[in-house]
Amino acid sequence: MAANAAMSAAISTPIPAPLPAPRAATAAATAHAWLPHELPPLLHPQLAALIHRSPQVLLDWVQRFGSPLNVVWPALLQDNVAALRRAERRHGLAFRLYYGAKVNKSQALVQAAVAAGAGVDVSSEFELRDALRAGAAPRDLCATGPAKRAAFLRALLEGGSLVAVDSLDELAQLLELARSTAPARPARVLLRCRPAPAAASRFGMADDELRHAMHRIAGAGGAMVLEGLHAHLVGYQHVPRAEAIREMVGHVDAARRLGLDPRLIDIGGGLPVRYVDAARCEAFLAAQGPQHYRHGRVPAAFYPYGGRIDAGTWLDLLLESPCRDGLPIARYLNVHGLTLALEPGRSLADQAGLTLFRVARVKAMPGGTHVLFVEGSSFSACETWFGSEFLVDPVLVRAGASGAAPRSGRPVRAWVAGHSCLDDDVITNRLIAFDTLPREGDLLVWANTAGYQMDLLENEFHRHPMPRRIAARVRADGSLDVQPDDDRESAHP
Ligand SMILES: *Cc1c(COP(=O)(O)O)cnc(C)c1O
Repeated sequence: MAANAAMSAAISTPIPAPLPAPRAATAAATAHAWLPHELPPLLHPQLAALIHRSPQVLLDWVQRFGSPLNVVWPALLQDNVAALRRAERRHGLAFRLYYGAKVNKSQALVQAAVAAGAGVDVSSEFELRDALRAGAAPRDLCATGPAKRAAFLRALLEGGSLVAVDSLDELAQLLELARSTAPARPARVLLRCRPAPAAASRFGMADDELRHAMHRIAGAGGAMVLEGLHAHLVGYQHVPRAEAIREMVGHVDAARRLGLDPRLIDIGGGLPVRYVDAARCEAFLAAQGPQHYRHGRVPAAFYPYGGRIDAGTWLDLLLESPCRDGLPIARYLNVHGLTLALEPGRSLADQAGLTLFRVARVKAMPGGTHVLFVEGSSFSACETWFGSEFLVDPVLVRAGASGAAPRSGRPVRAWVAGHSCLDDDVITNRLIAFDTLPREGDLLVWANTAGYQMDLLENEFHRHPMPRRIAARVRADGSLDVQPDDDRESAHP
């Protein structure tokens, strides 16, 4: 565990609350290291160095590519793959990793996952096409999503990809397609379970349906091969996953009694990501009240932004959990010739994206707060559309920071709205503390947005062009390289 703690410290180094430097050292400002309402992001050292030491680079990128700007960091996704591989070695257990490509539309991130040796979990013909374009071998793809179209199933069969079957109906369709599409090549199948911790889920099959499915595969005359069992649970706890694994190894026994030989226990995604320091987040949650929100409403639920463990530690806890016969999961899987499969999305994209918004207008509001209108909308940072909030503060990058005199002024609290005329187009209802009032042209930088937050809902509302996405890399000599990572090569107007 000590090694993990060191590893996680190396990956996400807490930084102090962002402060402009130099700044007036007032008694009020120096009396505390941080306030309960301050939630600075945990930043990879490379990103912290960029934001705090070379902010002009970010201003230049937005000047060139427009606002909002999505910046992905493929090398950081590769680091995350490597960190999970270290867990594999710690436990002496073989994993199969499939990048859950739906977290981000970036082709550069898919390429990075493939280059790091991961497979890709694809949920549409389009994600399949992108994974192949990124160089993935069709056999290294799996499809775990529900309600797959015939054309998608056919493409998966033709390539020999792994198909997680979600219902008896889908199994029947797959068998029919397998016989007509690729008769020489058996369909590679996982059966998606509906384990007790997900009893109310619409995904997966109940135990009696699983038994049915196994009989049909056993009777399919070699047209299908049962490679394993699959489950994906909502939430981020390892305990229900351990329970799901115990159920799945029971299903493996049942399948083996039918002469099938499943080898894979696939537990999907849901590995945690740490966005802010856990103690700060807990202090904020304990202290927060209506006064911290512009409309006086505290959201009912939040993503666990201030989690205490990273994905590697989470895997350790899972694999050390009891399985059966007095054995922990890692040992049990090994003894029974089983491989663990994972489809992490968010956790592989940890730290691999920044979203930059340029401030368009600053407006004083009754009650002493301010609203910052940004060029862009909450469709590019989508927590409020889910009735929740980012519990991560944006980092303020001041325009003209290099050379310009430090600005003086009082600390303020402000919320952030998009540039549309929708009343609900609010990026944060939470009042963010700033040392002095931001100005037009400044940037708000949201860290760690690559997992679902960056582009899930983006659109061309008001006919604003889609936000650009660029892929950034630090070259061996320390210089930065950026490449467009969307299908528009030309610069944004
Ligand atoms: C979305 C999804 C994943 C990835 O989940 P994360 O929380 O991003 O790790 C994995 N498996 C399935 C079936 C999914 O739907």
